[in-house]
Formats: sequence, C-alpha cells, structure tokens
Amino acid sequence: MKDMAATRLFLQALAIFMACLVRFLHGYSPPDSYLIDCGSRTNTTIGNRLFLADQSASNFLSTPTNVIAETFDSVPPSDYSQLYQTARIFTGTTKYTLPVSRAGRHWIRLYFNPFRYDGFDMSTMSFVVSAQGSVLMESSSLFTSAAVKEFSINVTASALVITIAPSTGSSAFLNALEVISMPDDIIVDEVRTLPSRKFEGLSGQVLQTVWRVNMGGPLVTPLNDTLFRTWVPDGPFLTKSNLASNFSNIRAVKYAPGMATRDIAPDSVYGTVMKMNTQMNLESNFNVTWEFAVDVGSRYLVRFHFCDFVSTNLNLLYFNVYIDSWSVITDLDLSLVSSNTLAAAYYLDVVIPVSGNNKTQIKIGPSNLVATEKNAILNGLEIMKISDGTDGVALPRSGSKKSVLLIASLGGGVFIVGLVLIAGFMALLYRRKRRKAKEDQSKWQIPSMMTDKGMTTQSMTSKYSNGTRVTASPGHYFGLQFPFTAIQEATKNFNESEVIGVGGFGKVYKGSLNDGTKVAIKRGNSKSQQGLAEFQTEIEMLSQFRHRHLVSLIGYCNDSNEMILVYEYMENGALRNCLYGHGKPSLGWKERLEICIGAARGLHYLHTGHSKAIIHRDVKSANILLDEKLVAKVADFGLSRAGPDLDQTHVSTAVKGSFGYLDPEYFRRQQLTQKSDVYSFGVVLFEVLCARPVVDPSLPREKVNLAEWALVWQKKGQLSQIIDPALAGKINADSLQKFGETAEKCLADYGVDRPSMADVLWNLECALQLHEVSVPPGDPEQSSTPHIVTDKSTPLNSVSHVDNILAAAQFDTSSVDEVFSQLVTSEGR
Ligand code: ATP
Repeated sequence: MKDMAATRLFLQALAIFMACLVRFLHGYSPPDSYLIDCGSRTNTTIGNRLFLADQSASNFLSTPTNVIAETFDSVPPSDYSQLYQTARIFTGTTKYTLPVSRAGRHWIRLYFNPFRYDGFDMSTMSFVVSAQGSVLMESSSLFTSAAVKEFSINVTASALVITIAPSTGSSAFLNALEVISMPDDIIVDEVRTLPSRKFEGLSGQVLQTVWRVNMGGPLVTPLNDTLFRTWVPDGPFLTKSNLASNFSNIRAVKYAPGMATRDIAPDSVYGTVMKMNTQMNLESNFNVTWEFAVDVGSRYLVRFHFCDFVSTNLNLLYFNVYIDSWSVITDLDLSLVSSNTLAAAYYLDVVIPVSGNNKTQIKIGPSNLVATEKNAILNGLEIMKISDGTDGVALPRSGSKKSVLLIASLGGGVFIVGLVLIAGFMALLYRRKRRKAKEDQSKWQIPSMMTDKGMTTQSMTSKYSNGTRVTASPGHYFGLQFPFTAIQEATKNFNESEVIGVGGFGKVYKGSLNDGTKVAIKRGNSKSQQGLAEFQTEIEMLSQFRHRHLVSLIGYCNDSNEMILVYEYMENGALRNCLYGHGKPSLGWKERLEICIGAARGLHYLHTGHSKAIIHRDVKSANILLDEKLVAKVADFGLSRAGPDLDQTHVSTAVKGSFGYLDPEYFRRQQLTQKSDVYSFGVVLFEVLCARPVVDPSLPREKVNLAEWALVWQKKGQLSQIIDPALAGKINADSLQKFGETAEKCLADYGVDRPSMADVLWNLECALQLHEVSVPPGDPEQSSTPHIVTDKSTPLNSVSHVDNILAAAQFDTSSVDEVFSQLVTSEGR
C-alpha cells in the first residue's frame, strides 16, 4: 500500500512538474488555478492536470457536508471521463469561495454529467450558478449528456465566490470545477460592433463560450491547448461542405510580434484551415458558410482566427468576411495586417446582436480586387455570449483570506513550489514583453485603404459598451438598431425646423446624436408608397456595402411600427439641389466632373464589387448626395435589386424608377440589367451639364425632356449651346466633347450598345484630364495633382498631355479595367 501511495505521489509531482514546464514553455503560468474533482475521494490526473479530491477542496465550500455521488455506469468517453464518474450533490445553496491571488479575467469551467444516485436524478435538477453577482447559467432540464460549460469573468475582489443555488424542491450537482486565471490580453476592452460602431467595457462582462471551432482541422482537446480549451471540428457547421476544402501546415504558423499569440489559439488551430473549394466553380464567386445556433436577443463576441499559409507569396489573397448579411471586413489582406509576414497568426473580434433568427451564419468569400485565383480562408472561430449582467443569487463576499494555493497544498514539495516561482518569474518577464507588444498593437489599426476602386476597409480598433440603450451616443448601441427615444432626442422630437427634405419615403430630418455626430434621419411615412420592402432592402444593401462613394447607413429603428433610417449627414445635400436649387453656389466644371466621377465609381462598385451585381434602379441627381468636400455618394437603395446571374442576361421585374431617368428598353421589356443604371446616369450627366430638371413641362415641347433635347444638340455637335450659362466659356472643348460623347453612349436605345460603368468612369476621367491640362496653373479650377502618371523626367506639356489622354481614351474599352491603373486620382475620388 505504501508503495502505491508513494508511486501516486511521485506521479502527481511529475504531472505538476510537466504542467509547470508546459506553461513555462508556452509563456503562461496562471496565478490562480483551482481544479476540483467534485465527489471524488482521490485526486485525479488528466494529462498534466491534477484535479483535487473533493475532500481536499472542502475548505472552500460553505456547506462541506453535501452528498458525494459516484456512478459505476459507463460515462461518455472523453479526456474528462474520470471526472464524470463522481459528482457532488448540493441539497441547498452552496458557495465555493476561492481566494484570488491576482485580480483579472478568470475562466470558470463547470463539468456536468448527469447520472442517478441514491434517489437523485441529476438530469432533472433545476438550479442556478452565479459568480460575483452575475448569473452564469440556469439549468432547467439542461442536462441530457455530459457537458463542460465555460465562462470567463473579470474578478475584482480578493476571492471569487461561485454560488450554486438549487430551485425550490430541487437539488444541484457538479462533477468538476475549474477556475484558472486567463492571460490579460485574451479579452480586450474595446471591440467593434457591426457595422462600425464601438462598444467599450467588454473586459467587465461575463462571457460564455458557446462555440469554439477549429476550421479544417480535427478536435483539439484541452491537453493540446496551452489554455486547456476544446476546439471542435467545423464539419457539422458547414452549410455546403462541398464548397470548402481543408488544408493544414502546422509548422508554417508564425506568431509575429503584435499579432495573435499561442494563448489566443494554439498552433493546431492556426495551422489548419478551411478554404474555398475553387474546383467547384471556375468563377469562384461563392461564399463558404457555417451556421451556428444562437439565442435571439443576446449579444455575442465573435472571434475570427486567420493564418494564411495557403498563399505562396505575400499580397495574393484578398477576401471578405460576413456575419449573416453584415460585412465584417472587405478585401482583407493578411499580408498587410501582419506587416508582410506570411502565415502569421491573426485574429479579429466583432460584437453582434442577434435579433431575428436563432441561427447565425459566418461566411467567407473572395474579394473582387483579384480577378484570378480567388480564395478565402478561415482557421478558427469562437462565439462567446455576452452576459446581460442580471443579478445573481449572491454577491461576492470580499475579504475572505483563505490564501491557500491549492497547488502548494498538494504535496509536490519545495521543489515544485520553487519551480513554480521560477516559472512564474520567467513568465512575468515574458508577459511584460508581450504586453508591450500588445500595447503597440492596440495603437495599431488596419489603415483605411483606398483601393483603385475607392473601397475602404474598416478600422479594427474600436470600443464596446455595456449595451445600455438609454442615450443617443452611437458608442452605446450594438449593431445598427437605434431605440426610438434616441431618434426623438436626435431630431428634437421630429421638430419641423429640422426637416431638410421630403422624398417618397417620408420626411428627412437633420439630427445630432449626443456625441455630436451629425446624421440625416428618414422617417417612413405610413402613407408612403415606399413601404416595408424598400425599408428592408435599404438596410440590407447598405449594411453590406462600404464604399467611399456610397452613402453610409448608421442605423435604423423599427420600434412601434416605425420605419426610420439613420444616415451619415451629407452637408451639401442632393446634387440636384446644388445644380438648380436655391441659394447654392454654382459648381465649376472640375467640381462637376469630380462629382460625376465619384458617383460613377459608386455605381461601378455596385455593379462589379460583389459576387452578384447590384442594380440601383433609381439613379438620379436627387440620389447623389454631396458631403462637405463635395465628395459624391450614391444614396437610396430602396429599389435596388440583385442583378442577373452570370448565365442570364437580365432580371424580369416590374418597372420602377423615376420619371425622366427611366431606361426606355427596361420600360418596354421590363427586363432589368446594369445598363438601365447606365442610361439613368447618362441623363444625370446632361443634367449636370445643363443644370436643369430632367423633365420640365413648362418649357416648349422639344425641350421638355432633357435627354431627348440634349441628344439632339450633341448629335449636331453643338452641345455648348445648351450648357449651364454659369459654365459658358469655362469648359475646355475637348473635355466637353468627351463628356457629351459619354453621355450620348449612355443613352443608347439598347442596353448592349451602352458602355459599362467602368467605361463611363474611364471616359469621365479623360474628360477631367482634358479640362485640367487646359486650365492655366494657379487657376482655381486647376487641380494640384496631375491625373496622369507620366515619367517624372518628362515635363507635362499641354499638347502632348492632351494627345496622351486622347490616345488613352481610344483604348479598347473591353479592357478598360486594366488601364484604370494608368490614371491616378488626387484624393481617391
Ligand atoms: P425619392 O425617395 O422619392 O426618390 P428623394 O430621393 O428626393 O426622392 P429622399 O432620399 O427621401 O428623397 O431625400 C429627400 C431629400 O433629403 C434629399 O433631396 C436631400 O436634400 C435630403 N437628404 C436625404 N438624405 C440625406 C443625407 N444623408 N444627408 C443630407 N441630406 C439628405
């Protein structure tokens, strides 16, 4: 017997030694570590982890004399099978009071395996577990099988009190309890919410791990994770498994400074990946989708893990990430975020509210920035439910001074304690170093990039709020949804003096959120023709797209049957009003061209920037808004529709749009293509040039319809006769000619004869170049940056420059996207 006891002691000491070694090597040694095998008469060693016998932990219990239960039935096979063999049954409210040597976030893992014992049926027990005044879980017929419930909580007192409170007439049970300190930097305080709000105070929230998934890889058990987490394979969550293929290269993973660490996720997660199965579809325009069960009405922290060991070189992979219909990030270039390190581990956090559906979809898909070799990857995913902080059953009892470290009481001897101290010291040094790296990282943001398509990526560093929806600061909302009271506050209760416009949907108010952000608030009129469908389309479309030339949707409100949309405020209002509105300063030709180019970029992005083209269907000068710098943004997506599939030429739909801008072919055939937007845009071009309404019944018959009238003059080559008098003598003839030709092509009778928005954009850029080279330097019309990239040693001579531009303009427009790179814009128009 003595020999057996000695052997067991030796094995325990060895296990602790191994645990210390592993943690030391991995740079993390938890200051607090409590592992208790409830109901067990002996200590239990699992891998390198030692779970204390129940009796050894009785010091921490407020009611040490509960029922100790044991089953001899077979238990579910897992790393934890031994823990599931015994349980402690609590017949009344019981507290574990665990001294905390270092305040901060701790994991609480509760192990449950319901079995019957001496008249107790654990599967039917109803009870509440809370910690520090927050309810962690309520079991109401929860337990059909063995489960580990994992929570993380920020411990601020000198002891963590976990209360287990059975419901009246019931008991409670626990098979094992684990409390360990988490590394400080696993959960940060500030996280972005979708679409682009900030939420702060996350570090104070209780988080429950709902899903932790290893994409493209096998089950990772706690013994293979530096922080003893479980990562399940992603296969069961894939909606279409044939669209994804897995790949692994664990040795390739790099943990670069300021990026993810092994504590964030282990090599076995970063080293396996699920990517698009590009053999499925040569066009590779599809998303890989996973679906997870979630609770409606809750908020979740979603953590994406990426590591690009798929690419053979830097800057080859650009992809998009979505949660349901929200865009998390577009054109993610992992080379860029990792400062040019291939295969660097990287993670990305966002907070989402779950409102309508108890399933959430995580999607990855290719970016449109790359024409070939499209791909998208995901290595791991964690979904953590954020507790709403409901009052728990008991408040923490501070001042408990049972400063007995379990690890020291286990009889591992002075050697072990010494080792732990050394390991702790080394880990401290290492952690300091890492914290510095993390601080550097927290100062770092993904740069707001302007691509040649003018797209922006979103900032990654952001804040999190406690979710209280009481004030109108955007930082206090999660997701897009605004409470009605915030809208009332922002618009001074829909004060008529704040009305800045009235459209088909209803009145538009100027508003101010309580952090000072100016917004435009559109309140749906119950009598409006544009109803719920348009309201939903607008939210769906604008929350997917982020583009410098598309107006941003900040939020919406649908409380009490209201339909309210909140947009970024566009200081200069609608283009139409700037052209022929009251009291607006006249726009110069350069400004008008830049506005047209901006709007064309927005439409070009809509038509080509996504796997499926989007057709706006209501392109008009009232739907092109101008910000304080006259940057044009396309607005009003209520009528927009997904374009035809690749193998189709059009979408059949009832004709919608605005009078004077409507494509006659669409009107005749009710078949919608992107070219209908091109037609409407052609009308806008003439409107910009002539500064008059597109339909004006007060004019002589031949002039009523602007498109018809302007085409007559364009065809005669005398467009200059009908331009806005404010522009007379101020437009370069070549520029005007290019502009007129472009508008004319847009208005071709048949869609097939009209240019694409890419062609239009190209020609407008040329018109701008032609104008700029003709304006003498120093003239306010002159741009400070030349728009054609030339050899710097060659002085820009007007004549040769114009020739260059015209030569470029005659370029075969079928490859127009390729030649865009020859043009640069001064400010990412
Ligand atoms: P319809 O919706 O019937 O097509 P519309 O486009 O003119 O007509 P709205 O989009 O509701 O109607 O806009 C009405 C007016 O409100 C615009 O002309 C513009 O002056 C103003 N407006 C709309 N959105 C904004 C915004 N984000 N910032 C500033 N002003 C805006």
